[in-house]
Amino acid sequence: MTSSLATGLYLIAGVLFIRSLGGLSNQSSAKRGNLYGIAGMLLAVVATLAVAPGGYGVMIAALCVGGAVGAVLAQRVAMTSMPELVAILHSFVGVAAVLVGFASYLAPAEELTGAAKSLHEIEIYVGVLVGAVTFTGSIVAFGKLRGSIPSKPLLLPGRHAMNLGIFLASAALMVPFLGGHHGSAVWALGAMTALASLLGVHLVMAIGGADMPVVVSMLNSYSGWAASAAGFMLGNDLLIITGALVGSSGAILSIIMCRAMNRSIVSVIFGGFGATEGAAPAKGAAAPQGEVKSTDAQAVAQLLLEAKSVIVVPGYGMAVAQAQHPLYEAASLLRKRGALVRFAIHPVAGRLPGHMNVLLAEARVPYDIVLEMDEINEDFPAADVVLVIGANDIVNPSALEDVSSPIYGMPVLEVWKAKTVVVTKRGMAAGYAGIDNPLFYRDNTLMLFGDAKKSVDAVLGALTEGTG
Ligand code: NDP
Repeated sequence: MTSSLATGLYLIAGVLFIRSLGGLSNQSSAKRGNLYGIAGMLLAVVATLAVAPGGYGVMIAALCVGGAVGAVLAQRVAMTSMPELVAILHSFVGVAAVLVGFASYLAPAEELTGAAKSLHEIEIYVGVLVGAVTFTGSIVAFGKLRGSIPSKPLLLPGRHAMNLGIFLASAALMVPFLGGHHGSAVWALGAMTALASLLGVHLVMAIGGADMPVVVSMLNSYSGWAASAAGFMLGNDLLIITGALVGSSGAILSIIMCRAMNRSIVSVIFGGFGATEGAAPAKGAAAPQGEVKSTDAQAVAQLLLEAKSVIVVPGYGMAVAQAQHPLYEAASLLRKRGALVRFAIHPVAGRLPGHMNVLLAEARVPYDIVLEMDEINEDFPAADVVLVIGANDIVNPSALEDVSSPIYGMPVLEVWKAKTVVVTKRGMAAGYAGIDNPLFYRDNTLMLFGDAKKSVDAVLGALTEGTG
């Protein structure tokens, strides 16, 4: 295959990737979007193999091993572990950009001179820098999402000066790097990689709790830019296009999530800029006062049967328990009796963007009764019953009322304004942000303790009995 034919195929693959992103922007076209993505990737792999200068055996073996590992992982991963998987996949892109950078510096495909050489070396330097930050940052994010690294932010004194110092030292190493001949300045590239790796760790360690979703989408964006940089190093147009698509869509998602959480994008990029030095976020909020009132499935069913307006708020616990199917059955039953039943989705509910929407779509909940936070928040005062299923941080009133809370300022679903709130969870454990929730102690809150699936099944049983 000629390289111009390969370039043509790369272009078609690029268009398919753009169509894929377009399809993924809506639930009803998401399946088609995925198919475009698969077709684009197949085309890209075939075109790359066709123009590769030999070494097919190694490439096909690598494809088979990588493909098999990917297929097994995709089959096994639970929906609740998806963010961890995404984070570790970002780290692969980062390390790939670092390795490509070193390889193209030590064994260049062609001997360049003058401005072309300097330009290529700048591409290598920037690609390795972004790749190293992405690699270590994503590993820390993986650990935080998995729970192997504490989710609370590490706020070292003078951390911004430290970040600036590391960044300036990395930038300064570019001078000896660009002055070196024929791979002789690999030490400068290595030193910068070590510094950038440290920066990646420190930037992500400084962010945590409820802000983690934004970090994951930022790292998604970084991984795109790292791939794009690798495309420049290799002179591969498709990698440049794909990387730019991932980089910019990740950046847009981060901005949208920051807006939804009332956080500044600058503070996320610079590792918790503006957070109070030395604060202890997990314990920052005032301890809630009052008594917890527990209830049972029978009483909840009775409340629901008497309600004219019901709002269901799903959270991470619904995903863990897989309670979406009986939940929708219960909602359908109430709707048939004439009640207005709607689902309220917080932008960071669960553990990945769109987590709740995917689960509710799987249970065939109609899209028109699934409303985003902005669309439904004003309707809570008119609701007779709000069912909070395994959600915690996204319904925490201290985000609006307690300035000492680490989630203060984050918009939440204002469920406590309803006549009665029923919260289903197993015990009094905190949510992802690790903070207490005063909602559980409010006068109009009832706690239905237990696994969300078992509790919803029991409520559904009682509802069926009550209506049968
Ligand atoms: P939370 O993590 O705040 O709370 C979930 C609650 O579910 C827990 O308090 C837990 O309490 C309960 N739970 C767990 N398992 C079960 C079960 N089997 N049955 C019933 N309840 C269960 O979840 P939210 O959805 O409210 O908020 C999401 C949080 O995750 C936010 O802080 C967000 O920032 C963060 N996050 C979101 C990401 C995203 O992209 N959406 C990514 C990373 C983090 P108990 O143990 O007592 O049952």
